[in-house]
Amino acid sequence: MSTAASSPIILAENLTKVYAAGKIQVTAVHGVSLAVERGEFVAIVGPSGSGKSTLFYLLGGLTRATEGRVVVDGVDFATLDDGQRTRLRKHRIGFVFQKFNLLPTLSAMGNIEIAWAISGNKGPLDLKYLDHLSDLLSIKSRLKHRPSELSGGEQQRVAIARALITRPAIVLADEPTGNLDTKNSDAVLQMLVRSNRELGQTTLMITHNPEAASIANRILYMRDGQIVSEEKPSQPDAAAAAASASLVVPSSVAAAV
Ligand code: ADP
Ligand code: MG
Repeated sequence: MSTAASSPIILAENLTKVYAAGKIQVTAVHGVSLAVERGEFVAIVGPSGSGKSTLFYLLGGLTRATEGRVVVDGVDFATLDDGQRTRLRKHRIGFVFQKFNLLPTLSAMGNIEIAWAISGNKGPLDLKYLDHLSDLLSIKSRLKHRPSELSGGEQQRVAIARALITRPAIVLADEPTGNLDTKNSDAVLQMLVRSNRELGQTTLMITHNPEAASIANRILYMRDGQIVSEEKPSQPDAAAAAASASLVVPSSVAAAV
């Protein structure tokens, strides 16, 4: 399948995921359809247990759908074997997890380098781009340190650099601020906004936190495995919104979640 410039970066059609634990079946995601367009910053917000992480695994090709399909940058996961799906994931998707998931024995730099090495991108790591990302993420002085020597906020910023270094089609972030205090959360959210604004990075962030979601261009609300509503926050300057995200929860957002 060719990738047209106008086609969505991620397209999900009628996605359903049923977990079977013995005789009990849990429908974690139930008939979800969505599209994320190139350059968008979309947030999916919903309470705990609403199926957000399951949707994240489905969209990232980390688990197979029971029904429906996911198309990433024009490629339908269902048409790929396991090896091809892994390659697509490493090449086209940048993952950011709640618990950072950095390799503990490698330095910050080593974690970024290995992401590049396994991404399938040709050629050496672009050190100029890494320098630019390190500036953007304020981790320049921390690159030689191992994760255990970094604060949670620093670890997440390194994880974002690791996700961005391959210039993925989309960054998928699952509760990226879930393990951070307010100050570090705000910093990470601002950096996600800047990577969207300044690098044009298409981003899908999943969160239970309406304040965090308010930095996005578009918010999808999830409940009981379904997308129940959609909102485009009126914010001329998302970076400013990120900066003040800790101060107020818009009442419209608070009421909707
Ligand atoms: P969220 O990320 O919004 O908290 P999850 O996607 O983690 O939601 O979970 C949605 C539902 O699916 C919950 O009821 C959860 O208990 C169930 N669930 C999640 N993972 C599994 C699994 N591996 N096996 C069985 N049930 C699961
Ligand atoms: Mg979750």
